[in-house]
Amino acid sequence: MNDIVTREILDKVTGLRRSLHQYPELSGQERMTAEKIKDFLQAQRPDQLIEGLGGHGIAAVFDSGNKGPTVLLRADLDALPIDEVNNTPYRSRHQGVSHACGHDGHMAILAGLSMILRDRKPGAGRLVLLFQPEEENGQGAAKVIDDKQYKGIWPDYAFALHNLPGFEKNTVVIKEGPFAAASKGMIVRMQGKSSHAAHPEQGLSPVHMMTELIKGLMRLPGENRLFKDFALLTIIHASLGNIAFGTNPGKAMVMATLRTFLNEDMQVLRQHAGEMVKLMGKKHKIQVNINDTEDFPATINDPSATAIVQDAIRKSKARSITIKEPFRWSEDFGHFTSATKGALFGIGSGKLHPSLHNHDYDFPDDILKTGISMMYHIADQLVNTNKNV
Ligand SMILES: [Zn+2]
Ligand SMILES: [Zn+2]
Repeated sequence: MNDIVTREILDKVTGLRRSLHQYPELSGQERMTAEKIKDFLQAQRPDQLIEGLGGHGIAAVFDSGNKGPTVLLRADLDALPIDEVNNTPYRSRHQGVSHACGHDGHMAILAGLSMILRDRKPGAGRLVLLFQPEEENGQGAAKVIDDKQYKGIWPDYAFALHNLPGFEKNTVVIKEGPFAAASKGMIVRMQGKSSHAAHPEQGLSPVHMMTELIKGLMRLPGENRLFKDFALLTIIHASLGNIAFGTNPGKAMVMATLRTFLNEDMQVLRQHAGEMVKLMGKKHKIQVNINDTEDFPATINDPSATAIVQDAIRKSKARSITIKEPFRWSEDFGHFTSATKGALFGIGSGKLHPSLHNHDYDFPDDILKTGISMMYHIADQLVNTNKNV
């Protein structure tokens, strides 16, 4: 690996990573995290620093002042409502909250890049280092894109990485086309009429509709003729009435997560699920109401952006794996790849490393160097950093 990522940079960002890890904040509450990032970035003298982007988002702009593309690199600010069980000196000081997805590491990687940019400004176009809020609930990317301030930094290219347990440390994981699935939460509320449990015939329990609906929804992804690619529907929650042995229930609720590799398949899956709910409501004379939540478009890697990542792999002298199947999880980076050419790639965090969102997960600091090098070489291809400064 080249030595653009110096020991000084690694020591500094390892310290930053651990201090972010100690004080994790939930989606939408990333106030202290954003302050810390802002202070760090300010010291690297960006040409512009944007605050309050889509909530607590921060963006540092390194602008050549010359013609050229605007390139956005994204990290994420938020942690998860998970109680950390690790006993490191820098373990989470916020009870019930931890950086169990490694966003502390993603932030440290872009912070490391900002240290390189202090001495090597872009020679063409602009480079935007975006620290995005609310990734975990799928709202942050859309909020950033909708923010008025984003118009001023609208990118021609966008890139992001995610660390990936289950892959060898420092192996870059890439794929052209669909990389991570689209997903959507669906909440179905059913309203009938409650009655005395001794007289169910006087009420209208949604129990029949509920059981029929659960089975029907679960069968939908198996209807192969409907979908071009992978589709999945997982029932994640269901409830019927209240716990009262004297009462025949009058309401029910079913929640499901829908997943597909293609955005068009998500539309089809959601449409068929919605029609099924309405038809069954009519049949059982139950009032129905559907709400969608946590909407993640599929992350689709653009061919030219993927080629740029592949070149950065060579320049970083990193090992790499081209996966055949997209990941089934979702990333709200899909909002960026829906709006702009871009690519998401992975960096292995260890074959046996605890999985993301596990209570014993902790971002491995020894993949920071690969992350910084990858981001630098991606940016350098597009904005041509000035090596002589
Ligand atoms: Zn996560
Ligand atoms: Zn994550």
